[in-house]
Amino acid sequence: MAWQGIEGHDAVVAQFVAAFARDRVAGSYLFIGPAGIGKSTFAKKLAKSLLCESLQDGLEPCGVCASCVQADAGSHPDIDTVEKPAERATIPLETFIGDPEHRMREGLCWRLLLRPALGGRKVAIILDADYLSAEAANCLLKTLEEPADRAVIILVGTALERQLPTIRSRCQIVRFRPLTADNGAIVRRILQAEAVLATQPIDAATLQACAEACDGSLHRARLLLDPALTAFRNRLFALLAVRPLHGVELARETSALVDAAGKDAPPRRARLKVVLEYAIEFFRTALRHDLTAALPADAATADAIKAWASGIDEPAEEAVEALQHTLNALESIDRNANLTILIDAWTAFLERPSFAQSS
Ligand SMILES: [Zn+2]
Repeated sequence: MAWQGIEGHDAVVAQFVAAFARDRVAGSYLFIGPAGIGKSTFAKKLAKSLLCESLQDGLEPCGVCASCVQADAGSHPDIDTVEKPAERATIPLETFIGDPEHRMREGLCWRLLLRPALGGRKVAIILDADYLSAEAANCLLKTLEEPADRAVIILVGTALERQLPTIRSRCQIVRFRPLTADNGAIVRRILQAEAVLATQPIDAATLQACAEACDGSLHRARLLLDPALTAFRNRLFALLAVRPLHGVELARETSALVDAAGKDAPPRRARLKVVLEYAIEFFRTALRHDLTAALPADAATADAIKAWASGIDEPAEEAVEALQHTLNALESIDRNANLTILIDAWTAFLERPSFAQSS
């Protein structure tokens, strides 16, 4: 059976079980792997195990002690989780050492120096480690160099290159692989379990298609199952196929889809990302069509690609430009760009008459 219900990361589980058996738990770990494959969940489960009062063989938490109960409730006083505030581009300094009025009397680094409330240690989980500000990283460095007794700090990031060398060198690096190794079977199983919990059945074909398209990211798989987004894909392709492109209309419909996600930034960003990824899929397919005359099996997409190509003199050049610009827009989302401005700039670029169009 999977360790605490974690699927697809058996090698990492084995690594921790072995380290714990040899009493070789490190003071700081850096979890690295693509977004949405379960690194944060793993960090939380590991914290629960490290703090359990009667840990079983194989690093299995008992599930019933006071520590396990509080860990499950998300209210454990010795599990300290911080992340990038949605409205900020980086994790600010005050997250680690308090605001100017409370320097070193608040913040994660200060809290780690306090005696554990329940058990023998404290566990800090730093999500969004890709977005540590330089000052914050410097403060954290001191804590990593002089760790509190038996404290464990887990940083969760997506790529090693996005971490400062000074942070990297002080952490034990744990690599998480995408879930694709099993050809989507793991993703399918997890989604199935979630659907059962949510009492919303997903038919087998949809589930399989989603498992194959999600690149091993659960986060992405859940988005791909969102009916509002799947419906928008065809609409987007139709809008992109029209020449000249109606930028205002494309911007309006894209904004409406993003707005429907509510006021919170993360789901809004996630939705826009999926839209841009659909557009990337469109331009890639268009490029392939121009170079090899190949068309996708899906008739609606094939028609949209043919319509798009028939209105342009240099389809390959146009597809590459559009692709590049859409990839840049996608990257800007992660840099906390204003979404309205980003949508306007993206659609205005696609609308521009820079290439000679067939008249
Ligand atoms: Zn326990």
